[in-house]
Amino acid sequence: MTDKFDCIVVGAGPAGVACAYKLAKAGLSVIVFERGEYPGSKNVSGGVLYSTVLNKLIPDFWQEAPVERHVAKRRYSILSKDSEMAVEFSFDEFNKPPYNNSFTVLRSKFDRWFAKKAEDAGAFILTETVVDDFIRESGKVIGVKARREGGDIYANVVVCAEGANSLLAEKTGLKKKPTDHQMITAEKEIISLPREVIEDRFSLDSDEGMTIEFFGDAVKGMIGSGFIYTNKDSLSVGVGCPISVMKKNNMRPNDLMEAFKSHPIVRKFLRGGKTEELSAKMIPEPGYKNLPALITNGLLIVGDAAGFVNPSLYREGSNMAMASGVMAAEAILEAKEKGDFSEAGLNSYVKRLNESFVMKDLKRFGDAPERLSGMPHLFKEYPDAILKMAEGYFTVSDMPKRETQQLARQHFRDKISVWKFLWDMYKARRAIM
Ligand SMILES: Cc1cc2nc3c(=O)[nH]c(=O)nc-3n(C[C@H](O)[C@H](O)[C@H](O)COP(=O)(O)OP(=O)(O)OC[C@H]3O[C@@H](n4cnc5c(N)ncnc54)[C@H](O)[C@@H]3O)c2cc1C
Repeated sequence: MTDKFDCIVVGAGPAGVACAYKLAKAGLSVIVFERGEYPGSKNVSGGVLYSTVLNKLIPDFWQEAPVERHVAKRRYSILSKDSEMAVEFSFDEFNKPPYNNSFTVLRSKFDRWFAKKAEDAGAFILTETVVDDFIRESGKVIGVKARREGGDIYANVVVCAEGANSLLAEKTGLKKKPTDHQMITAEKEIISLPREVIEDRFSLDSDEGMTIEFFGDAVKGMIGSGFIYTNKDSLSVGVGCPISVMKKNNMRPNDLMEAFKSHPIVRKFLRGGKTEELSAKMIPEPGYKNLPALITNGLLIVGDAAGFVNPSLYREGSNMAMASGVMAAEAILEAKEKGDFSEAGLNSYVKRLNESFVMKDLKRFGDAPERLSGMPHLFKEYPDAILKMAEGYFTVSDMPKRETQQLARQHFRDKISVWKFLWDMYKARRAIM
């Protein structure tokens, strides 16, 4: 093994691999450390890959990548204990390349493929190797301490792409330990079903996919959501809520997942399915104001480790991870040309991020969880009241329709004043759309 690399990347998720791919393509020597048995073995994702960045790195990647389905249908569903209010969108335009840059993927397959592309480009990916710390000299990161024999490895620059549980980034002091409020705990299952059943049940043509996001009683009326995404012959099914909310409600992730799967509306989508895989992971939602410092001498932080997740209805993590990985690589290439890997030499990473959709979207949506946390009634009282009103509207009886409608509206107004409702809807829309 070379004594010193141009760049060390810690973590072979989308952020680290995108960075390594770009650098290796440009001819730099790059080593990626991954603690998992193979890239993707430790990664959990609900599975929608937004691919604007990937499609620039590897044009028409879907022709060779192990994608499951392109997302042509989206459904948003609000649940009360036994009822559902849903809106569904279906777009024929999204059936054409580049498929609206949205694909369902299974991360264990996808990450492996992506890492192989970086290897083919010249990056060296070392799996089953945990990085325990950075090596510093005179205030500069100059390498990493890997947990294996002869594990001190040196480089001009290190990229921290270790994901949400970012212990190394915290050790640098660039990042504070996140609060329970800033972390989502998510649980996910892969549930197998025959391909034809999925296509019939979700009204999909071959290769078309659907995402369903559930709110309200899906997660026991807490802030958070559940989801079902269609793969070729399986469903990705999961729930996620802030740790602080789970603690407050004395709820364990596994109990929440079981309650979600057995909700009368949800269980119909899963009928006959078999759980093949169960995993749990964190999603960082620090908010724009709490993003860490992103660079120091010899080090850049990318992806989830930096808190780059759009928590709004757009739910974008992997695309932001890849975008930040690519921008880190571009900044490193510039720094190499100048021979300056100091904080000042790497600063174009921050400039690039600020000018990109990553920071613009985080600025716009990053604080959504904090804003919504002041409105817990949106997730419990509102779904119940709206669905009860709708039930009243649609109940067939001998009463004149005018009277049934008045009763239904009155039932709603008894619970929530119209002005409060309109004001809350305005605030919620600003937070998440
Ligand atoms: C349940 C769930 C559902 C999600 N759904 C979506 C979705 O639908 N769409 C979307 O865009 N995003 C989604 N996300 C978020 C998305 O998964 C992340 O934003 C994305 O994976 C971040 O990529 P990353 O490369 O920064 O980190 P990761 O993908 O977490 O990769 C980090 C890698 O670093 C390795 N590692 C960590 N520490 C070390 C160490 N010390 N030494 C060596 N290796 C180390 C890990 O094993 C891992 O492979 C979801 C997340 C979860 C948990």
